[in-house]
Amino acid sequence: MPLRHLFIDMNSFFASVEQQDDPTLRYRPVAVIPTDAPTTACIAASYEAKAFGVKTGTPVWEARKLCPKIVFVVADHRRYVIMHNRILAAVRSVIPIESVLSIDEMSCRLMGDERTPEKVVTIAKQIKRAIRELAGDYMRCSIGAGPSVLLAKVAADMKKPDGLTTLTDADLPHALHRLELTDFPGVGPRMEKRLKLHGIFTVSQFCEAPAKTLADVWGSKIHGERWFRLLHGEEVASAPTRRQTVSHSHVLPPELRTDAGSYGVLMRLVHKAAARLRKIDYWCGAVSVGASFLGAEPRDSVWWEESVRVPRCQDTPALVAAAGRLWERRIRDRTPFKVGMVLSELVPARSATPSLFDEDRQGEDISHAMDTVNAEFGASVVYLGAMFGMRDAAPSRIAFTNIPDFDRRVS
Ligand SMILES: [Mg+2]
Repeated sequence: MPLRHLFIDMNSFFASVEQQDDPTLRYRPVAVIPTDAPTTACIAASYEAKAFGVKTGTPVWEARKLCPKIVFVVADHRRYVIMHNRILAAVRSVIPIESVLSIDEMSCRLMGDERTPEKVVTIAKQIKRAIRELAGDYMRCSIGAGPSVLLAKVAADMKKPDGLTTLTDADLPHALHRLELTDFPGVGPRMEKRLKLHGIFTVSQFCEAPAKTLADVWGSKIHGERWFRLLHGEEVASAPTRRQTVSHSHVLPPELRTDAGSYGVLMRLVHKAAARLRKIDYWCGAVSVGASFLGAEPRDSVWWEESVRVPRCQDTPALVAAAGRLWERRIRDRTPFKVGMVLSELVPARSATPSLFDEDRQGEDISHAMDTVNAEFGASVVYLGAMFGMRDAAPSRIAFTNIPDFDRRVS
């Protein structure tokens, strides 16, 4: 099986961003925490902290016990997303990215002469250099190459930090044998228990297991077959997922439960959704807007919503205009409590026909310009007047496996 995929995994990503941005944190044990509270747990640890046994999920009190000199830093996801974008740009300067799997992981497809181990080493070195130059010398990554995305990811995990591991035919499967079953993405403690119940205790037994046994373990012929093929280096496409909608909703804080406040938050949600649409590169054909309004009693509250078809678009001005027209029909004599909106009838950009009218093009150009500025400076530096003053309403939530919605675009 050829080396088809390259997998890039940033090392201790959140902690490294902190050390990159603040040189006084370098060479010190650092842990990133979601909020400054004694009951919280670490969401990332620097390598210096890892040396003391601190890792993701370690409670703060325990981290302090393991490593009295540890420095806690409260997470700043806006900066992590900015760094994420720089890293994407660095990788893209060397090789196209096929898939962004999380805020600190991405995979690339190797083609033609890129599939030799020598060329993989050259590409990996170029990627590491580009990341150092564009993102900073504290931003290190581990790179793996293998016949499937799964094995490339496993390879990337084999050497940290700053590793490079290739899994060629000559290395497979014995290079895997020193791993634990749970080193395979998709095998958690529950699956490990099930594997053991079926007599599979080691990775070598896992690799040798017939498809039939794996089907029994997973309780599904399809999953068993899939794992069998993955472990034998085959490239298995994951089920195609087609996105149906992009939606956002937000419960209004008491001070924004006014006509102007609810409109402002709605516009902010539209900005977020439009940016998300462009990020995933889809166009939408319908916009819905909704809101709930309070009554005298909780059971008297009412939900209102309206939808409209729009010419296929992905630009903020067109979506703001459509949502604004729908909002004209809202209930007016009640207190708004929650607002929401949905973009639907999505089609991938490659199958959408863009508008030929210049006016529409302008909206698109403005949107892309906003995205570029917001990607570099983070959050909503640039936005349309409709959301003025609402920049900090409806904050994006912390996301670990997903990149937050403000990713690259509007916060
Ligand atoms: Mg990582």
